[in-house]
Amino acid sequence: MSSIDPLQKSINRLGSQSHLPAGSEKSALQSTSPIEVGTPLQYIPGIGPQRVELFHRLGVRRATDLLFLFPRSYQDIAPYQSITELELGFRASVIGQVVDMDQRVSFEGRSSVGVLLAVDGGGYVRCVWYNQPFRRQQFSNGMRVIATGIAKSTGISFEMRHPETTILAPGQPLPEAKPIPVYPLTEGIQQRHVASAVAAVLEHLTDSIEEALPDSIRLSANSTKPLLGIGQSLRAIHQPNTIEEANEARYRFIFQELFVYQLALAMRRHRLKHEKPAPKILATPMIHARILKRFAFELTRDQLQAIEDVRNDMAQDVPMNRLIQGDVGSGKTVIAQYAMLNAVASKQQAALMAPTELLARQHFTRLRKQLAGSQVMIELLVGSITQRERTELLQRIAIGTVDLVVGTQALLSEQVQFESLGLVVIDEQHKFGVRQRANLRESRMVPHYLVLSATPIPRTIAMTIFGDLDISVLRDKPPGRAMVHTYLGSTAQQNKWWEFVVKQVLSGRQAYVVTPRVESDPEAEVVGAEQVYRQLMEGPLAGLRIELLHGRMDGNEKQAKLDAFTAGHTQVLVATTVVEVGIDVPNATVMTILDADRMGLAQLHQLRGRISRGSFPGYVCVFAKPGVAPEENARLSVLASTDDGFRLAEQDLQMRGPGDLLGTKQVGLPPLRIADLVRDADVLIQARGLAQKIVEQDPNLDMAEHAILKRQVRQRHGAVVSLGDVG
Ligand code: ADP
Ligand code: MG
Repeated sequence: MSSIDPLQKSINRLGSQSHLPAGSEKSALQSTSPIEVGTPLQYIPGIGPQRVELFHRLGVRRATDLLFLFPRSYQDIAPYQSITELELGFRASVIGQVVDMDQRVSFEGRSSVGVLLAVDGGGYVRCVWYNQPFRRQQFSNGMRVIATGIAKSTGISFEMRHPETTILAPGQPLPEAKPIPVYPLTEGIQQRHVASAVAAVLEHLTDSIEEALPDSIRLSANSTKPLLGIGQSLRAIHQPNTIEEANEARYRFIFQELFVYQLALAMRRHRLKHEKPAPKILATPMIHARILKRFAFELTRDQLQAIEDVRNDMAQDVPMNRLIQGDVGSGKTVIAQYAMLNAVASKQQAALMAPTELLARQHFTRLRKQLAGSQVMIELLVGSITQRERTELLQRIAIGTVDLVVGTQALLSEQVQFESLGLVVIDEQHKFGVRQRANLRESRMVPHYLVLSATPIPRTIAMTIFGDLDISVLRDKPPGRAMVHTYLGSTAQQNKWWEFVVKQVLSGRQAYVVTPRVESDPEAEVVGAEQVYRQLMEGPLAGLRIELLHGRMDGNEKQAKLDAFTAGHTQVLVATTVVEVGIDVPNATVMTILDADRMGLAQLHQLRGRISRGSFPGYVCVFAKPGVAPEENARLSVLASTDDGFRLAEQDLQMRGPGDLLGTKQVGLPPLRIADLVRDADVLIQARGLAQKIVEQDPNLDMAEHAILKRQVRQRHGAVVSLGDVG
């Protein structure tokens, strides 16, 4: 029987060789002082005064936090290795018989104990301990021993220094290997420190952790098997007997983490829907048909479905909260137009907010064209209109003689008072902060609310960021769209590319040249739009009608430049990324992107979206900064590999993680400790469904069995989802 120190023991309990009779565990543990919920970290084995700070860094502040310091993964070592399988420097387990022992004391007083094992199947491993003379007493010749440690070579044989050992009783069957948890670490902390701290706390505190998930939820959370209870889960995640057991425990915690967040979102959604009523806007079959007739083309199946969703939503007196998610060019505007005309048909006002003035003007122009000959009064409210125009416009909005207002953030101003605002549409939502959308709705009586987003975020992310919205997805693109070819260009090929651009332009198409900055910065080796413009005009694109557009120009100048391009007068538009959002010129089919390695994948995809809008094939060539081959840049390679924004988004997510998704710093993603929005998509969907069901029955989580859940929702996500006031 091995009686080893508690620290060693707790490691063994986690490791593959802990098969000590139950009685011996008890006695060993009783020798340590019992750990309580309030025990300071320094008294916990494996931490001690010297590592308290380091554990803080891992997020461990109280003893119970250790229970929720989940392993990152498990090391599943094969039960036992034969001598020929040992690899120097790697951890291994061998089983063998003690055939020799030695004990020495060096001149400096350092003692060593050596135990030579004849390994099953042949060969020898020497176990050695320094300054642990008591080891000598633990072993005797003929014992069968399992030793786990890092295999080293003495030149003559293999050696393990300070291995973990288990002595097998005669006739005792061989224990099976157990998965060994691998914890997140920080410098100065080793696996064994965490393992022993966790083991100690696990022993004493597991039963003081309250179960947040009532039986009913644990039963319905997973279709195949109820979720493990909290105590069992904690034990199994830290000290699993099998990897299946570990996974079952992980599943519970992943579910719980996602579930608590989805509860918060469901509560918020419920509140948005039930706080105040919205006007019922009923699209009668006649109205419906009349609006659809205004579209010059046949709608795609996804567009029709989204319209149906919107139509149903608006017919209710609970406010619509819907996100239309669709790749660039998928035709989201159609849905917005439908909703707005529907509102107007019911004598309600509608507002459309766009992130830039250019885009607002484009929407305005389009709508006005589409509504030509109708009674609908449509106006534009942007920063650049004169004070007089503005005052007059505000008045007309307030008395309700304006039906549709298209604008920028200027719409958010306190002074904009509607007579009866029935619908708010926000285009390119990802360009706005989440807060702004809240402002608009909270400062008014509640209108229906429609959000368009061209960031093709993966579904699971959408469910997380926009978990309080209903989602319609436009996946198919309008028919007749020609393909876009994406090339990765090298500096050497640049002249050839410009020749191609000239050829395209001379055949009647138009071209964009995009570069991220207005001015050059020799130090950072970036070429600014101004310099590019001059160089192209004097060099490779000489003779073409070429113009410059960037964000520092004033609104009217920008508009004039864009108008000239839209009208086809300008052949080549050199621009900064101001053209990223929404600009729609179907005849523009060629795009050159310079310094593309400085841009995010989403941005590049958005830019590319500018040239896939008509029936001519599009050509985009991306150049990285001089000296960098674009194919060396993972993002650019991905861009070239697919034209499907959703697939791109998934790839980007894999590459960069959700926190930095698609170049837009996505606010509103909760910090996740164990769940992974990509890997655990299925669990998320399950959690979301159940959260919505629970909140429907118990909107404020006031039922006794939801009390702990409610506390967790408030503690973890109260601020994020502004539920601080749910009581
Ligand atoms: P986005 O989703 O990027 O906002 P838009 O709504 O601007 O896309 O639509 C892109 C282009 O496709 C526009 O020129 C629009 O008129 C056109 N379009 C939209 N729906 C259809 C359709 N069903 N059939 C043909 N063209 C369409
Ligand atoms: Mg759009």
